[in-house]
Amino acid sequence: MADTNTVYFDRIALVGIGLIGSSVAHMVRQKGLAGHIAVTARSKKSLDTARRLGIADSVSLDQGEAVTDADLVMICSPVSTYGAIMETIAPSLKLGAIVTDVGSVKGAVIRDAAPHIPDGVHLIPAHPVAGTEHSGPEAGFAELFEGRWCVITPTEDADHTAVDKVAALWRTAGSDVEFMDPDHHDQVMAMTSHLPHLIAYTIVGTATDLEKSLMNEVIKYSAGGFRDFTRIAASDPTMWRDVFLNNKEAVLEMLQRFNEDLTALQRAIRWNEGDELFDFFTKTRDIRRGVIDARQEKLYD
Ligand code: NAP
Repeated sequence: MADTNTVYFDRIALVGIGLIGSSVAHMVRQKGLAGHIAVTARSKKSLDTARRLGIADSVSLDQGEAVTDADLVMICSPVSTYGAIMETIAPSLKLGAIVTDVGSVKGAVIRDAAPHIPDGVHLIPAHPVAGTEHSGPEAGFAELFEGRWCVITPTEDADHTAVDKVAALWRTAGSDVEFMDPDHHDQVMAMTSHLPHLIAYTIVGTATDLEKSLMNEVIKYSAGGFRDFTRIAASDPTMWRDVFLNNKEAVLEMLQRFNEDLTALQRAIRWNEGDELFDFFTKTRDIRRGVIDARQEKLYD
């Protein structure tokens, strides 16, 4: 064990070894949190990469084989895959095992995964609020979670020891741990993460439809603001498709509010209501100060 204040698992199984899975693997290695890291993914290519990077002690395309004997199974794949994965791995989970995850949406995870959890196995959903626009096993690094939040959304009857172990893992990763109701998590993320991604995808999408000469100018002068949207809009399409389809209600609710505010601003511009624009932009400036004070100025997902 790395140090007596931390947590240790004889065998951790990671289902998915993309940006988040490989970052977890690097972190687990660096902190000495596991005796064995077993990895499974969709493709042999990713498993070979995990081996080459030294972040897997064993690899298998067989998900059941990978999770056998694991004390902790962490699902690190897109959220739409959870139901099928859980159904496949359920018979191989050992008694007392903890199943956790990193999915950006929590209500849908519980809906899809919980029915497959065998008696004596503990489901402890979690979301490390940390990421980049890159994906795949080569994108990961151990420090990704440092100084970021990890939100854990246990059900009311969750096993306390299992919750403590998952929390200890994320604290060891350098994260601040917060506990939340899954629906509340999904509402908060709809505003802080999902809506901003949707807006970035829209703005960059609008630019793509411009005539070629104008598009070239947009890229040339992108440092004016557009550039920051292109970084967010370069995020993984599969992951974000799944986020929107699995957090539909909360995203649509925030989008409705956004549309109302946009219409108000549109109206203020049309009718030369400078005071209204000024007041609105002053209010948003305060939010920026709050973000900096909360040490959240780095991008997360
Ligand atoms: P990623 O880089 O695209 O990696 C996804 C991994 O999942 C890949 O290893 C992929 O295998 C594997 N996978 C896909 N379908 C699978 C299946 N049916 N069975 C087993 N493995 C499968 O994605 P990521 O960014 O790490 O995101 C993973 C999870 O983390 C998502 O649920 C996402 O919501 C959450 N998350 C992401 C971020 C972020 O900023 N990216 C932040 C916080 C949370 P192959 O490599 O073989 O294709």
